[in-house]
Amino acid sequence: ERQLVWFRTDLRCEDNTAFHHASKRGPVIAVICWTPAQWRAHGHGDNKLDFWHRGVKALAEQLDSLNIPLRIIEADTFDTLPARLLELSETLNCQALHFNDEYGINEVRRDRSVSEQFHDHQREVHRYTDQVAFAPGTLLTGDGRYYSVFTPFYKSWLKNIGADQLQQLEMPDAQSALSDVSSDALPEFDTSRAVINADDWPAGEEAAQTRLERFLQKRAHHYDEGRDFPAMEATSGLSAWLALGMISWRQCVNAAAARNGGHLGDGDSNLQSWISEIVWREFYQHVLVGFPRVNCHQPFQEHTKAMVWRNSEEDFQRWCEGNTGYPLVDAAMRQLITTGWMHNRLRMVTAMFLSKHLLIDWRRGEAFFLEHLVDGELGANNGGWQWAASTGTDASPYFRIFNPTTQSRRFDPEGTFIAEFVPELASVDVKKRHDPDASLRQQTGYPVAMVDHRAARQRALDAFKALS
Ligand code: FAD
Repeated sequence: ERQLVWFRTDLRCEDNTAFHHASKRGPVIAVICWTPAQWRAHGHGDNKLDFWHRGVKALAEQLDSLNIPLRIIEADTFDTLPARLLELSETLNCQALHFNDEYGINEVRRDRSVSEQFHDHQREVHRYTDQVAFAPGTLLTGDGRYYSVFTPFYKSWLKNIGADQLQQLEMPDAQSALSDVSSDALPEFDTSRAVINADDWPAGEEAAQTRLERFLQKRAHHYDEGRDFPAMEATSGLSAWLALGMISWRQCVNAAAARNGGHLGDGDSNLQSWISEIVWREFYQHVLVGFPRVNCHQPFQEHTKAMVWRNSEEDFQRWCEGNTGYPLVDAAMRQLITTGWMHNRLRMVTAMFLSKHLLIDWRRGEAFFLEHLVDGELGANNGGWQWAASTGTDASPYFRIFNPTTQSRRFDPEGTFIAEFVPELASVDVKKRHDPDASLRQQTGYPVAMVDHRAARQRALDAFKALS
């Protein structure tokens, strides 16, 4: 009997749980729900949507080579999907719908409605755990709660992970062509506002595998040394592919473990650290389900709801544009807006600068990141922002406030990264590039620092202290 496979943030054929299992039951027809208004409502911007669009194209080609037709449901939002999917499965005579679970609150609600609709009409729904090793709710603390701190979650993940979860699933063989079903044309997408380009961001699973291989061969063994230095290409750069499921976490973890004598939490500390980052990704997926308030613009630490954030549009704009007068912060923000990506160290530095030095609501920064990031993803982005703002799970204590100039000297010692993204300062002497004096600022046209670090730090400390 025919099976309908709904691809979502799992845009790959290899090691795709739902696709693999569906293909064992009968001929497959694939479906993608194209819901741009919903994605925009979730805050995703043109870079991510462009990458998404090209990822769907790559998937369509791959499916075509397996003789699997791809149908597209175009709908503005999730609301009409239960009825549209049911209608499609009836028209195509598919007995069952298969998909891999997603964990954002709207996705969970959508999937519940779809499942109900199918069951009400005596059609099967098969749901799979694929994006994470442990379905949220199955890895809990000793007293049965969701973890709210990463390290014990990570230890428990390492202790409980088994061969079953790590098992990769083969891509199905090509099937006989279905003569009565053809593929739909992909919807058009206006890419003119995206700043990413296809050469730097080749979508699809083949490109993801190439990146993974290159990272493991060239950089993984120096990950600990290099990962905090934005001018070095020391990390995998795989986040955008992972966020849309063009590569699976299993493929990443297994490939890293294979270079680490089969170990996940022992052996080469570089590979261990990298694997632990993949577990961070999973941790934040669990947080979305365990603490639904974080999906709804609420802080994880509920007492921080009382924080009175500064409401300065002008300050916010200066941060967005990369004109704060702190060279590393500005280089980072300009990297984000001109390339659609930002290095992890800089995400921490800029997020802390907005939420602590400027004392502006972290939710504004979270939304700005999501709008620009090609790898924008609710769990990791929200988790990262709440960490920086000291409102989240592993929240850095509120008195931990990065000094942006010290961070700059430490993590961009040669000032190379600053020179790349803040060209005004490219010819300034390296030692002065981290904090140019007044006359250099005047000569180069680089702005005066918008806040004094010590005064801003004190203002943040006072505001946070008032909460406790
Ligand atoms: P690598 O160092 O090679 O790590 C491998 C993978 O592990 C990444 O691709 C990513 O999937 C995962 N990972 C790494 N660090 C984290 C982390 N701290 N939390 C969760 N997963 C992690 N990551 C996103 O994927 N999407 C986001 O929208 C996002 N927003 C962030 C916002 C802030 C304020 C902060 C501090 C971090 C954010 N991160 C986000 C996490 C991290 O910055 C990126 O995953 C990382 O920079 C991507 O680069 P990479 O692929 O080279 O990472």
